[in-house]
Amino acid sequence: MRVVRSIRTMQRLVSQAKRSGKRVGFVPTMGALHDGHRSLLRRCRRENDLAVLSIFVNPKQFGLREDFAKYPRREHDDKKLAKKEKVDIMFVPSVKEMYPEGYLTYIEVEKMTQFLCGRSRPGHFKGVTTVVGKLLNIVTPDVLYLGQKDAQQAAVLKRMARDLNFPVAVRVCPTVREADGLAMSSRNQYLPAGQRREAAVLYRALREARQGVAAGNRSSAGIAGGIRSRIGRESSGRIDYIECVDADTILPLKRIQGKTIIALAVWFGKTRLIDNIIVRT
Ligand code: AMP
Repeated sequence: MRVVRSIRTMQRLVSQAKRSGKRVGFVPTMGALHDGHRSLLRRCRRENDLAVLSIFVNPKQFGLREDFAKYPRREHDDKKLAKKEKVDIMFVPSVKEMYPEGYLTYIEVEKMTQFLCGRSRPGHFKGVTTVVGKLLNIVTPDVLYLGQKDAQQAAVLKRMARDLNFPVAVRVCPTVREADGLAMSSRNQYLPAGQRREAAVLYRALREARQGVAAGNRSSAGIAGGIRSRIGRESSGRIDYIECVDADTILPLKRIQGKTIIALAVWFGKTRLIDNIIVRT
């Protein structure tokens, strides 16, 4: 496995691979890799000739009062995991390499970024689409692998690729969970033991919502209310949002219809966790 820090080198290596007819798969991450990332890397490895992983904690997607400075950085462990998963290239650019002085250009997807995490984290998706747009131009992959865990992010990036004609196929992989159902996340390690135990309520509440939909409940407010009261009963979590949105447009639905994402963000202490499930009617 090669660790590459320069954009020029990354571009040269991929264009060589492509000239020899190789299919390139790409998994962008912020590192502190866990089994969720691993599932993306495995699929990328299986389906491509050249597997590229990027690790970049992107300052532009963090708000001023968010956790950029304390976000876990574990390059040494990440490298070991990536090697084990047979990644070919681990791309680890510095902030200066990605955003040299005088950087001025941004990508913004409208409407879909107004709700859910877009509402609670102003500017977040502008940072995400800008960095992934840049990474797609640098790595020029045939296939991009994203996780359903970040459902709005996946929908927004799919739309960006379509609207801006990035010649890339986007694959969204299922959410990988801990044994108690908590969605794996690099941020879970912020949680002290008590909050970590409580956080399992999120998936229990989402599963109960799925049962409600299966039993014929179509009211978004009713479903969200059920989730809210379960979280309130079984934890000290503070709700940021609970919403039912259309899976493609990410616009809120009054009634659950077609492919719907039930998504939530909940604070446990200083840690904000997100999760979601997809239901179909
Ligand atoms: P991050 O490092 O958190 O920016 O995540 C990098 C990629 O891994 C994103 O496409 C995430 O959606 C995906 N991912 C993160 N956690 C999980 C998980 N528990 N299951 C599946 N994919 C995940």
